[in-house]
Amino acid sequence: MLSIEEALERILSDVPRTGAEQVPLAQAYGRVLAESIQAPRNVPPWDNSAMDGYAVRAADVGEQATLRFNEVISAGSMATMAVEPGTASAIMTGAPVPPGADSVVMVEHSDGSQEGEVTLTGPVRQGQHIRRAGEDIAKGSTVLSPGVRLSPGQVGLVASLGLPSLLVARRPVVAILSTGDEVVAPGLPLGEGQIYSSNNAALAGLVHQAGGTPLDLGSAADDLDALRTRLGYAVKQGHLVVTTGGVSVGTYDLVKEVFEEIAGNDLAFWKVAMKPGKPLAFGRVKGKGRTVPLFGLPGNPVSCMVNFLQFVRPWIKTALGEPAPYLPVVTATAGEDFRVKPGRAKLQRVTIEAGASGWVVRRTGTQSSGALSSMALASGLVLFGPESSGASEGEAVRVQLLDSGFLDGETPNFGW
Ligand code: AMP
Ligand code: MG
Repeated sequence: MLSIEEALERILSDVPRTGAEQVPLAQAYGRVLAESIQAPRNVPPWDNSAMDGYAVRAADVGEQATLRFNEVISAGSMATMAVEPGTASAIMTGAPVPPGADSVVMVEHSDGSQEGEVTLTGPVRQGQHIRRAGEDIAKGSTVLSPGVRLSPGQVGLVASLGLPSLLVARRPVVAILSTGDEVVAPGLPLGEGQIYSSNNAALAGLVHQAGGTPLDLGSAADDLDALRTRLGYAVKQGHLVVTTGGVSVGTYDLVKEVFEEIAGNDLAFWKVAMKPGKPLAFGRVKGKGRTVPLFGLPGNPVSCMVNFLQFVRPWIKTALGEPAPYLPVVTATAGEDFRVKPGRAKLQRVTIEAGASGWVVRRTGTQSSGALSSMALASGLVLFGPESSGASEGEAVRVQLLDSGFLDGETPNFGW
């Protein structure tokens, strides 16, 4: 049997990068940046006022002073006069600081006059209430680097530089094909002995999360010709093909055979030392200047999802150019005894809840690899290595986080 790490090394050894495309900023959130962004200008572009008030020379004010009033400088306009000694100009938040002024006195520390003379109260710290040119972003500095998955704040930052669009990695199209005579798409009538496919829908969600575009190609019967046709189509349509079922040792596990036909030597069937999981096929189909990887995932719904998370997700993120393609792992406390048989690595589905001293994890019911309810309830996967026999209640365990939804608050929980 192969370890998870060995399988990963093989899978990620030669990942072709997806191309890049230019998208408007409003569509850039969540995409992976494919360029480096240098600031073409300072932000803010000039020294400006952080307050509604008066632009002055600090030395003029002292404890209190009455100064000659110059003009009003509103945001979006420039001063027409310099602030000479003994004078003050009214200035609004965001307006450029006029020549001669070195400080701003807020309007609350004045008599509010906008003609003749204005009386201001000190003390004034030189430079107060002035936002300096380039204080947020300095011209020429590197603002963002390739590989970052863009957050709203980062998109806003780019907008503040005046750039209308960004070059991002194209989303890889991931063709999804389930297999099995028993498998039927939801919405269709079930024949005797048939079940609804959960894998297509679950995989489509996982592909989205990873940053790809799912292409659901439905389900193929356990029939060589059907599989050839459907897989041939999948390879043409996708940057990546993910199938489920038919890769273990049953009589009708024909996916293996068809994979061999289309991928030839560049194909491996692995027994990966993990539970859930184990059978995994990985190959590459080469043709017409492009290489399409094939992932043959197990049919059991939980194995299918857990395998995707360990192997396909990092592949997609690597193809997108993300430097950190793996799920986050944190330490938590076992909220109950976890007893596991040594032999294969175990990834057990858990809930994660806030305890008195950190996060506490508990199993989400049965850990059978067919029981999808355990996946639906899970926020994380507790990791036990091949030699581990588990953990006792209260011990520290390591948890892969599946998403951050469990961190959401029912109350604001400011804590102040
Ligand atoms: P297989 O890997 O084809 O031997 O399938 C293993 C188990 O997973 C069997 O119980 C199948 O019925 C089930 N299975 C296979 N494909 C799917 C699917 N798309 N949705 C739900 N269950 C599936
Ligand atoms: Mg099958």
